[in-house]
This record gives sequence, structure tokens and C-alpha cells, in this order.
Amino acid sequence: MALDTLLFIDGELRPAKGGKTYDNIGPWTGEVIGQAADGSAEDVDAAIAAARRAFDTTDWSTDHARRYALMKTFRDLLYKNRDRLVEISKIEVGAAPGAAYRAQIDGALSGADGLISEFQRMKWEEDRGVKNEMGFDTKRYVMREAAGVVAAITPWNVPLYINVGKVVAALLAGCTVVLKPAPDTPAMGAIFGELAIEAGLPKGVINVVTSADPVTAGEMLTKDPRVDLVSFTGSTAVGKKIMANGAETLKRVFLELGGKSVFLVLDDVQEQAFPMVIAGSMVVFHAGQGCAYPTRLLVPKSKYPMAVAILEKAYAGYADKWGKIDEPTCIMGPLISKRQLERVKGYVDLGVKEGARLLAGGNIRNDKGGGFFIEPTCFVDVRNDMRIAQEEIFGPVLVVIPYEDDEDAIRIANDSIYGLGGAVFGSHQRAMNVCKRIRAGALSVNGGMSITGDLPFGGYKQSGMGREWGLEGIEEFTEIKAIGARVS
Ligand code: NAD
Repeated sequence: MALDTLLFIDGELRPAKGGKTYDNIGPWTGEVIGQAADGSAEDVDAAIAAARRAFDTTDWSTDHARRYALMKTFRDLLYKNRDRLVEISKIEVGAAPGAAYRAQIDGALSGADGLISEFQRMKWEEDRGVKNEMGFDTKRYVMREAAGVVAAITPWNVPLYINVGKVVAALLAGCTVVLKPAPDTPAMGAIFGELAIEAGLPKGVINVVTSADPVTAGEMLTKDPRVDLVSFTGSTAVGKKIMANGAETLKRVFLELGGKSVFLVLDDVQEQAFPMVIAGSMVVFHAGQGCAYPTRLLVPKSKYPMAVAILEKAYAGYADKWGKIDEPTCIMGPLISKRQLERVKGYVDLGVKEGARLLAGGNIRNDKGGGFFIEPTCFVDVRNDMRIAQEEIFGPVLVVIPYEDDEDAIRIANDSIYGLGGAVFGSHQRAMNVCKRIRAGALSVNGGMSITGDLPFGGYKQSGMGREWGLEGIEEFTEIKAIGARVS
């Protein structure tokens, strides 16, 4: 299918001003898979104006029941388009078939369910009782109100999931939205326009602007005084720029940023389970392009040689199992772009230079079909102060670090500028105790799911600020108002 896409501004699907388009490049082939509308500054301006008007002059932000009904319809339409969304995630995002359904699309759909059910727990108005202060009685109320016009700036790695997390939550909260998808994944954003029309969402409450230039539209949104709040998911470097650019108008800024999470194996993992747990640390799912992916494997020194042997065998056994677009069980495809391929390869070369031992992979594979393929890669004998252990690679690269005891493991886990996710394996209580001491926002114990639509998600430290998803993720798009009414 050709993925030709339009902008969506003020209820209308339309080309960019002047009809400009850009090539949407497919990660599997490196070839053009469609033409995307290349939004200009004028288009961004029109989108902000439409969102502002819809917020200021309609009852969108106050009619909670209507919004709830419309967003349920919108969610139902996402489900109805599941197969199409899966196709887009394969062709545009480069998801392998086994990753396209699970994380890319079904995760986003159940995320929408989670938000819609959490919405029912929203407390819009709370009676805080009467208080006698300054000699008279005041009846007090605390209200939540929509924050206003939201700029949702999103990345390419799990675009539907992240677009849903921002747009559905913001609209449920009563905000109006300008969605700016990453240049690499315009179709996964543009489809929101189409579904908004079908769902009957009022004009201007959601607008989508795609553009080839990754920076200009995002900077405009971040600086424009008509935008009240920026919800950004992407790299820590850009997150810092957004915070600085938003400072001039004191924008509320939510940042979901990068990570370098740990996969921590405690020494009391049962002997029979150990090989499976260690093999499960391979960074292959969606070629490692996941922000909360645990890409630092921490193994007790006493079991380190055994772990290395297991990994060597597991990676060898995986050598011909990835990069297959027609294989339903395949979970690893290409990287999103040539730029990302070069970046990941740069880190592989750096790891070798830093003195880590390349146990598996590391090669770019041009024989896989013209796209952006690099082998599943594993470095062992890594020290946590190496750059490959400190910096986010965002590719299929695992680094393995031995540790002395639990204290040492916790120290290494926290010795990072990031604090997004993490996985701990071991006896339940011990793993729970370790989790409580890891400074990160989403932890998994023995494979449990901590990232679902009805739980808050977000980072500590330089992995971000604020929470997305869950009740907390809807509340992020609100302001709090206190009213005191004199009654005596
Ligand atoms: P990126 O930071 O390069 O771009 C993200 C978005 O920001 C894109 O839409 C881009 O066009 C836009 N942008 C770029 N410069 C901008 C600027 N100056 N002002 C405003 N907008 C700007 O990230 P990416 O390469 O698209 O995605 C990968 C990164 O995203 C990784 O670091 C990953 O960890 C992170 N990520 C985080 C989460 C999370 O929830 N914490 C989830 C997914 C991805």
C-alpha cells in the first residue's frame, strides 16, 4: 500500500500550503513508500489557531460526558482499523510481524482502553468543606480543569502507542491538541485525522501536522504563546531544548525521554530458570528501539561465565531468525532509518574501542533487502563507566556487566543519568526490595508488566518529568483550581 498522507487542520484533511510533500522512506527496503504532506510554518500556525479556537469558544473542555462518548467511538475506530495499523507499523515503522501486533498496535489499543476506563475515576470537582478563617465561614471547592492547547510531539519508535498516550489522554482531559509526529512516521499520525472525522470529533480539537524538517514545527509549537502545554516524547537532548524553549512563555512541559535501564538478575534465580532468564535479556524485540528496554544486563560475578556461555549460544541460535518481514513469529526487523543505523554502528565501533568484548553481532547487513539492518549485538566484559553502558544506543545492543552483590548491583543500576525502566529477576520479596531502591519509574519483577495503559509511566532523573497513561496521565493535562465561597 502507498502511504500518502495529508495534514489535518481544523477538521479538514488537506495538503500542506503550496502542496509540498516529502518522501516517506520504508525501513525494510530503503525505498519510498509514500508521499507525506510537508507542513510549513503557515500550516503549524493554522493548526495552533484551530486548537486555540476550539478550546476557547466551544464547550469541549467542560462537556465531560460528550467527550467520553466521542473518545470511546474514536477508540472503537482504532480497533476497527487494527489490521491497517499493523500494516503501517510494518511498512512505515519497520516493525517485524511478531512485534507489529503485540507492542506496536495491541499495546496502543489496550492503552486506549486503559485511559478510557481510568477517565471514569477523574474527580472534576471536590467539596473540601467549610472552614472558618479570618472570622467567617468559607465553603471550599477544588476543581480540575483542562490545561488548554496541547502540543504533542512524538517519536518514531512506537508511534501509535505514544500518539494514543498523549492525544487520547489530552482529549479526555478536555484539552485540544496539535499532534506533531516524527518525520519518519507521518502515516501513524495522519490516520488520527481520518478517524477523528469518522468519530465525529468537533473541528479543531485535534490537528495533525507532519513535516520533513524535524525541528521547525516542534520549535514553533514549543515557543508559541497560544500553546499551554507541551507533551514530548523523544531524546533527552531534544527534551532539554524543549524545556529551554518553553521557558520564555512558562509553558507546562511533560517530558518522556531516553533510558538505559537494567536487566538485573539476582543470584537466587532458580537454577532451572537461569538459562531462560539470561537468554530473555537479548535485545532483539523491535531491534531494541524501545525507551524503557532493559539494555544493561547485570549478572552476579559467581554466575557470570555461565551467563556469557548462555548468551553466546542464544545469539548464535538467533542469527537467522531476524529481519524477516513474512515470518509471523519474527520480532526483530530493521532500524528506522539510515541515520539511526549509522548511529548504532557508531556505538558498536565505540564499544570495541573502549575495550568491551564483542560476543555477537555488530555488523551492518546490506544483504537483508536494502533497508537499515544491523545484527543483534552483545558486548560482554563491560564496565558501567564505558559510554556504551552510559549512553542510550536505541538499537539491538546488549551490554553485560558483572556485579559483586545486591548492594553493588543497585549501585550500578543507579549509576546512570537515566531512570526510566528496569527488570529484576529473583525470589519475589528480594526482587521487590531491590526494585524499591532503583531510581526509575517503571519496574518489572520476574517478567511482570508495569507498562500498561492504566498505570502511570514516566522517568526519574534525565528520563523525564511527569507521568503519561493511567489516571495520572489524564490528570497531567489538567490545571487545579481552588474556589472559596463565603457563606457567613
Ligand atoms: P527525537 O528527540 O530526535 O525526536 C522526537 C520528536 O521531537 C520528533 O517529532 C522530532 O521531530 C521532534 N523534535 C526534534 N527537535 C525538536 C526541537 N528542537 N523542538 C521540538 N521538537 C523537536 O527522538 P527520536 O529520535 O524521534 O526518538 C528516539 C528517542 O525517543 C529515544 O531517545 C527514546 O528513548 C525516546 N523515547 C522515549 C520514550 C519514553 O516514553 N520515555 C518513548 C519512546 C521513545
